[in-house]
Amino acid sequence: MVTQVATKGKTLTERGEVPHPRERFSAVETRFPAYAVPFGDPRLAATARRNRSVWAAIDLSEYDPDDSGVFKTKSEVRKLVKSNRTRIAELQELMFAEGKHAMLIVLQAMDAGGKDGTIRHVMGGFNPQGCHVVGFGVPTKQELAHDFLWRIHPHTPPRGYVSIFNRSHYEDVLVVRVKELVPKKVWQARYDHINNFERLLADSGVTILKFYLHISKDEQKKRFERRLQRPDKHWKFDPADLKTRTRWDDYMRAFEDVFSKCNHPWAPWYIVPANRKWYRNLVVSTIIVEAMERMDMHYPPALEGLEGIVIE
Ligand code: ADP
Repeated sequence: MVTQVATKGKTLTERGEVPHPRERFSAVETRFPAYAVPFGDPRLAATARRNRSVWAAIDLSEYDPDDSGVFKTKSEVRKLVKSNRTRIAELQELMFAEGKHAMLIVLQAMDAGGKDGTIRHVMGGFNPQGCHVVGFGVPTKQELAHDFLWRIHPHTPPRGYVSIFNRSHYEDVLVVRVKELVPKKVWQARYDHINNFERLLADSGVTILKFYLHISKDEQKKRFERRLQRPDKHWKFDPADLKTRTRWDDYMRAFEDVFSKCNHPWAPWYIVPANRKWYRNLVVSTIIVEAMERMDMHYPPALEGLEGIVIE
């Protein structure tokens, strides 16, 4: 089946074209209406400069977790996701060979939001040799005795490599804020620390992409129920997640603040509609491919005289 991607009211198949993958990605991207968090109203720029914490206000209720763009079914996007994964693998090899760029992918979501599934289905395209996946859970006593970024920094990617954060330093302004684990004054100062930290990484050649997998409270209920019904999913069910669920609205406010205070062109946030896993995979994989294409990478020049070499 040829996947149909609508452009200017007509599908590519209707136009009788078999698009180059790059064209398809662009066609898809133009159909992602509002997932890149806006960088802020220029009128706020002066205020933002004075107080780096003021940026565009984000209202998560305006983002539909059920959205699936122009697509209706999983089968429509299967080939696109597959070709994205193939392209990710090619570009990662190029990144490794060139050794100039690094990439940091941050995944945040409510419980059962699909972080693990995204890593399996999308990041499965990465060669494990050049890719480091790290999960951040409740900090240890030693980690708590340091500044909150101490445990994060060693896991940032060196040039040529990719790091994927399953939860991240953002927990220190999410769960920590909602559960009041430190005084307000302490977590409030962290947005600036995070911005400075990410700026440092970006200035050092790290492309940063931050994804919030946006599920609805109803969808979380369904996913929890599924975990309870299926014995092979029981291990995933943590009664503590139910407590977190009761604070849903507080988490939404905390996420909104993250998106308005820590969203910059060098470290953008993407709000990914994630109720439909197949669309989530398409969005995340496309954004990764596009970001890697923009790196404009090249293989290093070959050694001289290779053409004269004969392998006995
Ligand atoms: P996941 O839920 O991502 O599959 P876990 O079951 O190990 O992984 O849960 C990790 C837990 O660690 C989450 O409840 C998360 O809120 C918590 N956590 C992560 N970072 C921090 C932090 N800095 N302070 C307190 N709790 C944290």
